[in-house]
Amino acid sequence: MALKRVWIPSPNYSSRGGSGVRLIVLHTAEGARTIESLGGFFQGDVGASSHTGADDKVNTIGEYVKRSNKAWTQANYNPAAVAIELCGFASWSRDEWMNNHRNMLDNCAKWIAEEAAHFGIPITKLSAGAAQGSGRGVCQHADLGSGGGGHWDCGSGFPMDHVLDLARGGVPAPSEEDENLIASAVSESGVHHVFWVGEDGKTVWYRYQRRGESDWNDGGTLLKSNEKIVGLSASKSATGVLELFGRQADGGPVHTWQKPNQTAWSGGEEGKQRAAFTGLPK
Ligand SMILES: [Zn+2]
Repeated sequence: MALKRVWIPSPNYSSRGGSGVRLIVLHTAEGARTIESLGGFFQGDVGASSHTGADDKVNTIGEYVKRSNKAWTQANYNPAAVAIELCGFASWSRDEWMNNHRNMLDNCAKWIAEEAAHFGIPITKLSAGAAQGSGRGVCQHADLGSGGGGHWDCGSGFPMDHVLDLARGGVPAPSEEDENLIASAVSESGVHHVFWVGEDGKTVWYRYQRRGESDWNDGGTLLKSNEKIVGLSASKSATGVLELFGRQADGGPVHTWQKPNQTAWSGGEEGKQRAAFTGLPK
């Protein structure tokens, strides 16, 4: 799911003056606890801003300055940086971050992945020397030293490695998250089926509507996968077999089918699902 960006424009920005972006810089806001209150602060005449901010809301960040412009948050390095302010504190321990602010870390990671993809910046942790030199990657405000304003955020407890691991997981394709997890098809006898993946990501449920009827009947569980299912497809073959295919997160397929004018589904158990596809590339 692409990160939702809530646009709260700040007047505190300027042109990058032709500079390219090589730094993805993480900060802690040291006060504001929500992206809205942070955005409100940056709308004031405070001579400061950030491109974005993150709080504990699921899959949502605040955006205050467009990435094509220069935000004012790390002094000499502003022209070369794109920045996020986490609505937390540099004094937080690793446990505080990991136990109570998972969503904020996830949001930060997704933002890193999106910016890295946009600017072609590698998702690697820069040393202070590389950050202050000509390195391309991700750093914390503290890594920029006195030229960056001499701050110490995001603090020694910030789980940078965890966030970068999450970010390297990539930007999940929207289709894998929520668009391809429902499918429908009409059988030979005119029964309309709809299939969807349940909340556990591994169970396919279905309902069906008989020809000429308006009620939907609960078909229950159609199959259970041992891996997360990230895509579904349903179709009817030329000989009238209703086919349901799922793609598992590990690349393997799951498959079940219903012969024409029958109600039973075949191949629903794991062994058969896999056996039908032995040797296919993942
Ligand atoms: Zn900072």
